[in-house]
Amino acid sequence: MKCYCCGEEMEPGVIQSAQEINWQSKKRLLNNSDLYDDAVCLSRRSFWKGSAVKAWLCRNCKKVVIDYADPDSDFNQKHSAE
Ligand SMILES: [Zn+2]
Repeated sequence: MKCYCCGEEMEPGVIQSAQEINWQSKKRLLNNSDLYDDAVCLSRRSFWKGSAVKAWLCRNCKKVVIDYADPDSDFNQKHSAE
């Protein structure tokens, strides 16, 4: 994937957590996207594996991009389909 700022090739990688990884419009007490209409779940929490989402890094611009339109973006989503 090319960086949308500088056009350089981005490095593929992963962001992982023991909790759900999500986007929310503000910080909230409970970190659970099911509870909020505006939230976007990027990786479902798995009790055993935690959560992990594919992420692209640009070291030039210090930006990280998560393409959550990609069905393989959420590592837990991918494995739950197996
Ligand atoms: Zn860049």
